[in-house]
Amino acid sequence: MTPPDLDRTFALFLDVDGTLVEIAATPEAVVVAPGLPALLSQLQRQLDGAVAIISGRPLAQIDELLHPFTGSAAGEHGVAIRYGDGTLEEAPAGLAVPENWREALEAAAARWDGVLLEHKPHGVTMHYRLAPERGNEVWRLVRSLVPEDHPWFRLLPAREAVEIGLRAASKGQAVERLMRQAAFRGRKPIYIGDDFTDEAGISAAKELGGIGLRVGEVFGGDPAHVRAWLKRGADHIEGTIRLSTIPTGVSP
Ligand SMILES: [Mg+2]
Repeated sequence: MTPPDLDRTFALFLDVDGTLVEIAATPEAVVVAPGLPALLSQLQRQLDGAVAIISGRPLAQIDELLHPFTGSAAGEHGVAIRYGDGTLEEAPAGLAVPENWREALEAAAARWDGVLLEHKPHGVTMHYRLAPERGNEVWRLVRSLVPEDHPWFRLLPAREAVEIGLRAASKGQAVERLMRQAAFRGRKPIYIGDDFTDEAGISAAKELGGIGLRVGEVFGGDPAHVRAWLKRGADHIEGTIRLSTIPTGVSP
């Protein structure tokens, strides 16, 4: 499948890690390509604000990574949503992973070399990218903490990581909510993601008359190709904007 040519009728929903940014050994070690924040700002301008970042990272981290770009975003897989006007919609602070779970995970991470625990405002992620041989043990532990029918929390598999997150939130729900905002309404959503949790976002985009692009299938698994496609789109739109300002009857 080849991605469509971007035009001004689309809305963009973009995952971060593995989509806009290459995955690194640890979440803090990622490197944002120079020019990416400016490219996102340009697209945001061209699409009249219809660009949203949809990530498992907390909102504060998304902002820090993509600075000075800022705008509509969903953090922690949709647990926190920020709209274009800055309005924040977030699960109550008290709705967070219980302390005794955090302690059990903390103890295991201390015991298992290369397994990293990442605390988020509402959830927690165990990363085993640096110790893939620990994957089974990590999964056994989180399964023992979070039963499948737990009313509030669920396990979210990620690339060499597993997250305990709020059951009520999803990237798909974030797409649906953002699409009801004035900047997005009536547009054709394009969702781009690389991971299991992005499937909900892809489904939501399709249900809303748009499309979903998997980085592995459409961009050869390479965020550089996603960025190049976005850049081509921005250049193309820039060209059409310039052309449309030329008075009729005058050839360019
Ligand atoms: Mg990702």
